[in-house]
Amino acid sequence: MTKSYQSPPPHYDVIIIGAGPAGATCALQLRHSNLNVLLIDKASFPRAKTCGDAITGRSIKTLFRCCPELVEQFRYFPQKTEIKHTRLHINSHKPIDIHWVNEAYCCRRTDFDYALLQGVRQHAPNVQILEGFQVDDIVQDDTTPGRFLVGNSSQQRYFTTQFLVGSDGTQSIVSKKMTTTRLDQNHHAGAVRAYFSGVKGLHMNRTEVFVLPEFMPGYFWVFPLSEDTANVGFGMLTSSIARQKINLKEAVYAFIQASPELKARFAESTQEGKLEGFGLALGSRRVPMSGDHFLLIGDAASLIDPASGEGISNAIVSGRVAAETIVAAFKKRDFSADFLKSHEKKLFKIIGKELKTSTILLRGFHFAPKLLDWSAYLMANPFFKRLAKKLM
Ligand SMILES: Cc1cc2nc3c(=O)[nH]c(=O)nc-3n(C[C@H](O)[C@H](O)[C@H](O)COP(=O)(O)OP(=O)(O)OC[C@H]3O[C@@H](n4cnc5c(N)ncnc54)[C@H](O)[C@@H]3O)c2cc1C
Repeated sequence: MTKSYQSPPPHYDVIIIGAGPAGATCALQLRHSNLNVLLIDKASFPRAKTCGDAITGRSIKTLFRCCPELVEQFRYFPQKTEIKHTRLHINSHKPIDIHWVNEAYCCRRTDFDYALLQGVRQHAPNVQILEGFQVDDIVQDDTTPGRFLVGNSSQQRYFTTQFLVGSDGTQSIVSKKMTTTRLDQNHHAGAVRAYFSGVKGLHMNRTEVFVLPEFMPGYFWVFPLSEDTANVGFGMLTSSIARQKINLKEAVYAFIQASPELKARFAESTQEGKLEGFGLALGSRRVPMSGDHFLLIGDAASLIDPASGEGISNAIVSGRVAAETIVAAFKKRDFSADFLKSHEKKLFKIIGKELKTSTILLRGFHFAPKLLDWSAYLMANPFFKRLAKKLM
């Protein structure tokens, strides 16, 4: 497609669309390259993001490898709680505590994502940030083979790039334009969350997960943000939501009423703001995540852990690995789909085993909910407790 311009659009070696954890990490990791990078987001930060706000897994460790200065700053950040363990309340079994090996936090995504973007601003001078700009058009630049034109059609504002990174989340426009991947209800979840104050029995270092037979296969979470405020939500596989005709928002209140413990603890709580919902692209299937001159990372590449619904860690890891692949591609001047496949290989060496295990767990609990009861028994056993700790 050829477009006419009064002047040639500004050119960048790399354009990253989406400045969430995946895009911001990719930009941070590119800070020592000589590449000129444009990081675009449709939102202006700080912006809200519907999430459980649990920053777990390899998130902090990976960020530290990309930019230790940023992590040091984040450690002094007051608006967060440090998470040491997760308490699982499975049906009426005795609660099970799983201790975290990695450094983990609960932090509102408004604050966490803003801190990441500020980190890019501060530590990555080769990255230009463009906020409040929604990309709705991505085409091959007919005037120069191997280049994309990226922009907003109604504003008629475009940029060109040799390398495109799609870190634009579950509803990725990059994925829609560059791949044939489409939503599959069996590999997709829906979840809603709201903030509640006045919740009793919160433990500042402990996230909590609740499972009840009548709400299977899904789980309810209570993630503490302060002494009495928590991020509270419920999520479930999209195919089950459709089949059981579940209204997720109503399910949150119904869950609280169905659990005697939650009912008591939420009796004097106040909901702050609305329940917000969003989709989760699960990593229970592999989708194409690269092609000539482009890569997909984070939710855009369907990397969310299918059992826990956690996606921040894999978004961050994929952002880092993508940046390394991009640097290698520029060094070799090879932007072919063949070469870029190395990204996927490297990434799945790090996260593939966990995704596989979680997929097996999800399928097991989905088709045989009784398995959860057995798991509750098994997890009281020290060996399985150690195994579960490793998985989390
Ligand atoms: C209810 C819920 C609870 C969750 N809880 C947790 C949790 O507790 N822990 C966890 O680890 N994960 C959780 N997740 C998953 C987690 O939110 C995602 O995996 C994570 O945000 C992925 O990061 P990302 O950078 O890939 O995408 P995102 O964080 O979605 O960032 C994408 C960015 O792209 C921008 N964008 C999108 N389209 C365009 C466009 N066309 N042009 C320009 N910019 C664009 C958006 O504005 C956004 O800033 C939860 C998800 C949901 C829905």
